[in-house]
Amino acid sequence: MREFGYRRVTEVPEAVALLTTNPEARFLGGGTNLVDLMKAGVENPSLLVDVRELPLDRIEVADDGALKIGATVTNSDLAANPEVRRRYPALAQAVLAGASGQLRNMATVGGNLLQRTRCGYFGDTAQPCNKRVPGSGCPALKGEHHNHAILDWSEHCVATHPSDMGVALAAFDAVVSVHTADGPAELSLPEFYLPVGDTPHRETALPPGALITGVTLPAAPVAALSRYRKVRERASYAFANGSIAAALDVEDGTVRDVRLAFGAVASRPWRAREAERALTGGPATAEAFAAAADAELAAARPLTHNGYKVPLIRNLVVTMLTELTQEAVR
Ligand SMILES: Cc1cc2nc3c(=O)[nH]c(=O)nc-3n(C[C@H](O)[C@H](O)[C@H](O)COP(=O)(O)OP(=O)(O)OC[C@H]3O[C@@H](n4cnc5c(N)ncnc54)[C@H](O)[C@@H]3O)c2cc1C
Ligand code: SF4
Repeated sequence: MREFGYRRVTEVPEAVALLTTNPEARFLGGGTNLVDLMKAGVENPSLLVDVRELPLDRIEVADDGALKIGATVTNSDLAANPEVRRRYPALAQAVLAGASGQLRNMATVGGNLLQRTRCGYFGDTAQPCNKRVPGSGCPALKGEHHNHAILDWSEHCVATHPSDMGVALAAFDAVVSVHTADGPAELSLPEFYLPVGDTPHRETALPPGALITGVTLPAAPVAALSRYRKVRERASYAFANGSIAAALDVEDGTVRDVRLAFGAVASRPWRAREAERALTGGPATAEAFAAAADAELAAARPLTHNGYKVPLIRNLVVTMLTELTQEAVR
């Protein structure tokens, strides 16, 4: 591992200045992803700027009812927060479905959004990888890709985004607050994560040195009846093969509002807008749920070894929305 410096900061502008004047510096949240990548030689920062003592560790309700979550709130504190559990249960469940208790105690909201893909080639510096070394190739296309993307991938990269939290945030229209050298700014989640295209090494729209300061969830009554479900290869901690955040508002058998987002299917948390459009105003039946899933998945382009994700996601949509419908009429 390369020798590196360490600075603990207490003010946001100071943190941003340290990174904008040193492109080899990195922010350190919980370190649960970054330090692993440093050990593997994938990341080689000259300086770690520890953000955990910045005043960004609060969860607050704004005057308009939005929930404001600081970037250094730990995953454990986020999942345990009473407002999160009551108003956005799928978010609490998504966070608890990720990693282990010890990791969640360390990991932060900002770091979770920026965690890197778990594609094995990305973490192995002996292999080519367009995300790690632009232009070097993508061995996953013809190699090991059973857990790679089925939606929106390109010939340059087929990796998925690994965050469970991000899937629930996508379903609930999260807005990411950042602080750049030019001051504060806000990015909706679809603006924040860039499509993979021919620049898989550029995962977000964050300018160099930008600090994530928090995430805002707009008030969303539909989110109160929501769930997160994750399919993985073992019951203890493991990344998703497919996951879903779903929220539903049903009245007299008709869908009034619905939110759907999928995990482990694309290079970013996947908001299922086609499925939402197909469902809104229609009947809350298993047939309608299946048709909506098919509408969303019509764009899927599975690889040789990950075609199982198409029926897996379809089944998750039908099961989750059926369960939520039954719960709504209780
Ligand atoms: C064994 C294991 C299993 C896991 N399983 C899951 C899982 O099932 N689901 C899941 O979602 N996650 C899982 N994780 C990932 C874990 O959730 C992430 O490692 C964690 O969320 C990253 O948060 P962190 O604060 O530790 O980030 P760090 O490791 O500190 O940082 C990650 C990246 O974010 C940057 N960064 C950190 N904070 C900020 C900020 N405020 N502004 C700008 N940049 C910032 C860092 O510079 C770095 O590039 C697992 C991790 C491990 C090790
Ligand atoms: S899928 Fe992406 S991360 Fe994996 S080897 Fe290909 S370019 Fe690298």
